[in-house]
Amino acid sequence: MKGLSHDGLRQGIGLIGPMGLICPASYWSNRSHRSYSLQPPSVLTPEKTLALIQVMLHLLTLMPVLIVGSIALDDIKTQTEKRLDLLGGSASYASVAASFFDQVNLVGIVGSDFPKPHLDLFRQRQIDLTGLQIVDGKTFRWGGEYEADMNKRQTLYTELNVFETFTPTLPPVYRASSIIMLGNIGPNLQNHVLDQVERREFVVADTMDLWITTTRPELLKLLERIDLLVLNDGEARQLTEDDNLVRAARKILDLGPKYVAVKKGEHGCLLLSRDQFFSCGAYPIEKLFDPTGAGDTFAGGLAGYLASLRRPVIEFADLKRAVVHGSMLASFCVESFSLDRLKTLTPTELDERYRFFRAMSHFDN
Ligand code: AMP
Repeated sequence: MKGLSHDGLRQGIGLIGPMGLICPASYWSNRSHRSYSLQPPSVLTPEKTLALIQVMLHLLTLMPVLIVGSIALDDIKTQTEKRLDLLGGSASYASVAASFFDQVNLVGIVGSDFPKPHLDLFRQRQIDLTGLQIVDGKTFRWGGEYEADMNKRQTLYTELNVFETFTPTLPPVYRASSIIMLGNIGPNLQNHVLDQVERREFVVADTMDLWITTTRPELLKLLERIDLLVLNDGEARQLTEDDNLVRAARKILDLGPKYVAVKKGEHGCLLLSRDQFFSCGAYPIEKLFDPTGAGDTFAGGLAGYLASLRRPVIEFADLKRAVVHGSMLASFCVESFSLDRLKTLTPTELDERYRFFRAMSHFDN
């Protein structure tokens, strides 16, 4: 279905009328999949009708966003507080963030010690847990300590536990997912997920310094298979050995992905394709509690928003808004420890912050 023009799509759901196929409605959403706009009826040519039928078949088979990654129990130390056994992991943050926009299918692994309230949170967010493996043993654990400058963090320990033998296996119904978010796990596992997917409409992948250093060949193989790589500024420099972020981003595009999003922490994010560029500012946070998982939240929010668009072709304009939605979710994430702020986040708060983002980026001609 890739390459179908949006004209066919915008015709909406068809009804047979005296003059042929009449399209009374567009399911199209400008910003949120929850709001649908009505458009005036129009008559379809046979070509447009065919395109429309193809699109409708596509929509009928569309799957929710698939999210794969780590699920962890984190111990976090800041200059003022120490919190233990927090819900963490790339897939936890990404799936809860994505669930604000669309249905999520989660693939991950936890041990028998994984607290029930954490599972309940996933269920409350309507996240499908068919792909979650719960096995005997201890859940993956990670400890981190932040310096006074919270951009700087030391990893205190990483205990793989049940993660050591994790093989992400997609339940059959997950294999036709249209939007796939490969959260931060080893690129060998990310590649293994893609090996099982029948149709890849749009693949987003995250990575980290560890994989750039230790499993570079697998990471390079992954980059040839994905649409969008999300990584932070330090990782972009490390991957390309170039200090200039724009040049680094271009070098990443040369490695395979169609798009790259370079996160710059409190300074926002850059989005690049081969011929387009977008700079998204960061929400001005005055009191940062815990930046853990902000990147995963960004990527999950972005992927969930893309899924909600129901587009057979993702365009740069869609990605610009997706990056803003990801940034917005990440700005909430850092306002509290773990996923605490996302737990209480309401659609009204999201809406207000979206309007703030728009106003913050607007300037008159
Ligand atoms: P971020 O702040 O975006 O780097 O993500 C932090 C999350 O990543 C924490 O909740 C950790 O549990 C998780 N994490 C840390 N190290 C790893 C790793 N090697 N593989 C997968 N997840 C990890």
